[in-house]
Amino acid sequence: MKKKIAIHWFRFDLRVSDNPSLNYLSKNYDNIVGIYIFDDINSDPKLGSASKVWLHASLDYLNKQLNGNLIFLKGDAKGCFDQLMDSFDVEEISWNRSYEPWIVKRDKSLKMYLKSKVNVNSFNGSLLWEPWEVLKNDGTPYKVFTPYYRKGCLNSEMPRTPIQKPKLENLLFDKMNSISIDDLELMPEHNWHVAMEKLWTPGEKGAHNKIDVFIKEGLANYKDGRNFPSGNNVSQLSPHLHFGEVSPNQVWYRSKTQEGKKEIKRDLDHFLSELGWREFSFNLLYHFPTLPKENLQKKFDKFPWDKNKDALKKWQKGLTGYPIVDAGMRELWQTGYMHNRLRMVVGSFLVKNLLLHWHHGERWFWDCLVDADLANNSAGWQWIAGSGADAAPYFRIFNPVMQGQKFDPDGKYTKKYIPELKDMPNKYLFNPWEAPKDILDSANVKLGKDYPMPIVEIGSSRQKALEAFATTKS
Ligand code: FAD
Repeated sequence: MKKKIAIHWFRFDLRVSDNPSLNYLSKNYDNIVGIYIFDDINSDPKLGSASKVWLHASLDYLNKQLNGNLIFLKGDAKGCFDQLMDSFDVEEISWNRSYEPWIVKRDKSLKMYLKSKVNVNSFNGSLLWEPWEVLKNDGTPYKVFTPYYRKGCLNSEMPRTPIQKPKLENLLFDKMNSISIDDLELMPEHNWHVAMEKLWTPGEKGAHNKIDVFIKEGLANYKDGRNFPSGNNVSQLSPHLHFGEVSPNQVWYRSKTQEGKKEIKRDLDHFLSELGWREFSFNLLYHFPTLPKENLQKKFDKFPWDKNKDALKKWQKGLTGYPIVDAGMRELWQTGYMHNRLRMVVGSFLVKNLLLHWHHGERWFWDCLVDADLANNSAGWQWIAGSGADAAPYFRIFNPVMQGQKFDPDGKYTKKYIPELKDMPNKYLFNPWEAPKDILDSANVKLGKDYPMPIVEIGSSRQKALEAFATTKS
């Protein structure tokens, strides 16, 4: 006789605490099966390389939390459920909702199909406010961040408080249904990821450790300090939030425990508003599902992008000759992460100095970031390119020399990733091509050999970008 069970489908909620779907099933069923489906058939875009490495480690951790009871499946989700329903007497299937366009489409048809056979339920486990909960008075979605967050979110019902970890002794395991985690084939063939892996601790415990460290060491002075990449004011929670190893509700209420400390009020407010930016990106992605592929402002469709493959390669490899840009790109390659200030600097450089389409940047980030997130990445790139709903004005073009001097004044961050410039005096660190020969000699730098000459000139490329932008207005 088949066992009667309920299924919790883990997706972007790789945790057991504050997991609304898992919690609901644990209250209503004696036997729950936890599954993960690597649906590489329907996914669009396909998972990036760094994300796969993270996912592998995170699933491994979750499986251990569940005493090895997590069932791994691969392929089309509908086929996987058919297989499960053949083996078990399934009473209910439940999950936490996702907002990526391909998942919304798949889940809609899957839900209809499954509902004809079993009970189906879904919950909000990834957002503070779901996209349909925060709308303008006329029922349309917000397109500008400040009113979205201040007027919309903060005047809505406050996010639900986190739920405790359920009792999980009910989880069954039937080896017949599960492939091994290695069969998901998430790990790369070459060992490029080894250094990156050492820097992170994927999984629920690693996520909570990050919050603790951030609250202790980063939150005070977050508002100003978050701009300086060599400081420790940012939380680095983004990959943990993306994979749902921690919920935004847990981060929101955990940081709010500091509310009594008046001296950090502005820092706390600012940190919460960054979580608000995450919500805003999901709001945009849900209401404007073409966000990852199409300019939100249609006038950008006419933009005369350049097609210089060589320049793109140099940008990807951190060989543009602009040390702050190259440091950011090398941080990304080596760690799977890039500080937000640098994401803006390298993004502006790609789109506005090299005149390369933001899609190229978005794709490269997608492959390299451990926090690659369809909502945040697409919204971030459209913001940088000026083509987004509430975007940086196109004429705001970051000057990479000034950005370096302002946000890495002691050169610590830049020298960490560009060791060939470690002996350059700070005066010329961000513009080595302007350094006199004796300074270059004493820093052991031969430009063009040890470190490249700039691939574009800042002033003229800026002018070219402004002229290109002017053509979109006609
Ligand atoms: P903290 O400063 O500690 O912020 C806490 C959390 O708030 C973050 O973990 C993140 O979830 C959220 N957050 C912070 N800033 C933003 C923002 N600008 N937009 C949306 N959410 C934000 N973020 C991703 O998570 N995935 C991406 O793929 C991604 N791609 C980006 C691409 C570009 C071109 C740009 C400009 C930004 C991108 N961001 C992305 C947003 C932001 O850079 C990162 O969320 C942030 O740097 C993560 O570091 P942190 O966790 O230390 O941030």
